[in-house]
Amino acid sequence: MEDIIALCKRRGFIYPSSEIYGGMAAVYDYGPYGVLLKNNIQDAWWKNMVQYRQDVIGLDSGIFMHPTTWKASGHVESFSDPQIDCRVCNNRIRADHMLKKYGYDFDRVSVEEINKTLSELSAKGKLHCDKCGSTDMTEARDFNLLVRTNFGSPVGALKDMKEEDVVYARGETCQGIYLNFKNILDSMRVKLPFGIAQVGKAFRNEIVARQFIFRTREFEQMELQYFVHPRDMAQKFDYWIEERMKWYFDVLCISKENLRLKKHDKLAHYAKSAYDIQYNFKSLNGFDEIEGVHQRGDWDLTRHSKFSGHELDYTDPTTKEKFVPHIMETSVGLNRLVFMVLDFAFKKEELSNGKSRVVLQLPPSIAPIKAAVFPLQKDEKLANAAKNIYTNLCKEFSVEYDDAGNIGKMYRRQDEIGTPFCLTIDYQSLEDNTITIRERDTMRQVRVATSESASYIKDKL
Ligand code: ATP
Repeated sequence: MEDIIALCKRRGFIYPSSEIYGGMAAVYDYGPYGVLLKNNIQDAWWKNMVQYRQDVIGLDSGIFMHPTTWKASGHVESFSDPQIDCRVCNNRIRADHMLKKYGYDFDRVSVEEINKTLSELSAKGKLHCDKCGSTDMTEARDFNLLVRTNFGSPVGALKDMKEEDVVYARGETCQGIYLNFKNILDSMRVKLPFGIAQVGKAFRNEIVARQFIFRTREFEQMELQYFVHPRDMAQKFDYWIEERMKWYFDVLCISKENLRLKKHDKLAHYAKSAYDIQYNFKSLNGFDEIEGVHQRGDWDLTRHSKFSGHELDYTDPTTKEKFVPHIMETSVGLNRLVFMVLDFAFKKEELSNGKSRVVLQLPPSIAPIKAAVFPLQKDEKLANAAKNIYTNLCKEFSVEYDDAGNIGKMYRRQDEIGTPFCLTIDYQSLEDNTITIRERDTMRQVRVATSESASYIKDKL
């Protein structure tokens, strides 16, 4: 974990937020390479989920929604995690996560049940703060995760803000999809089954987060809400689980043994059946959730229909049957996927010459920079030729030009940011219009005609 965090900062992937003010827990900023990597993963998801399909369309709804949205969805009442505090050092701990360390799987259990187990452990003297070791801890309390702010123009201080001005930064992106269900039906010629996909920011007042970008208070979700006739749910649910697993194997190149499905025993208030897709994080010492695939039944549309007074049903154009569609969702955190790919791509290698290197073995299709172009040494003729190649290539994909060091140093830098190809222009290049292309993982070099360098790289991407 430390190595990845250090690399991210050193090489411009991810910075802690507001660092000059001492930082802001569980919020991160994406630097120049981080934003490219994140965008490439998002793009790969969007292509697979929307562009290549006829049954899914896209949406980009607002971060703020009418506050009743969150009452209807159940979030105001029950979107919470159990929290305990250390009375000595004020450390805040998520109780279900703490109990996991003692061997209990307390996903979505009531705070009463958690407290029973906590007091049993405490009586045996086993419960202690993971920061200062004290045994003086509070009972668990439910802590609502919705982030509140206000609209309107409150007179005076923010603390005096009126309850009717409260709005929530969305805790999940899917609610914007449900609120637009009727708009989509009325404006697009969609027929069941169909899906609406969206990528956007979500906000959660997470209790504690010391896992880099695994759990942050502001993050991006990529969600698909797929609307079906209830009788088709089981089949579509199985289909989408398989589709999503395939995407991880084929597009992000995750190996089979590092990905697994875990069925939920305890379900969220809206869910009828749910699986987590889990990845085996080296830096977290084991499997943890990257994506949820849930059957939400008719909970969301029925609740929004009840709270808004608008009918949110569907009439089958052939049979004229009228019903509330059931929803299957796939929901994944984009930032968590950035962490996952960094986790599997990060390698420290010992080289045959006795030196070592750090390399990010990212799949070329999501690497932030696809190719780097260097002149072999400082010489105006070489630099001009290299810049010409750079200018042509950067119209096709993201490319860097570098002449700021010796060739070895320039390779090392590109290895660390995961650039799959480095192109070097030498004196032979000026004579026969060829260049060398060095591949990141094998470090093998091939000489190809300059005019073929773009197609050579494109083939490999
Ligand atoms: P957890 O139990 O870990 O708190 P969850 O099961 O409540 O998460 P969902 O509400 O199902 O998570 O969210 C779907 C996906 O959104 C998760 O699989 C994860 O990839 C992502 N996600 C959720 N919370 C966060 C967060 N705080 N930071 C980053 N990604 C998140």
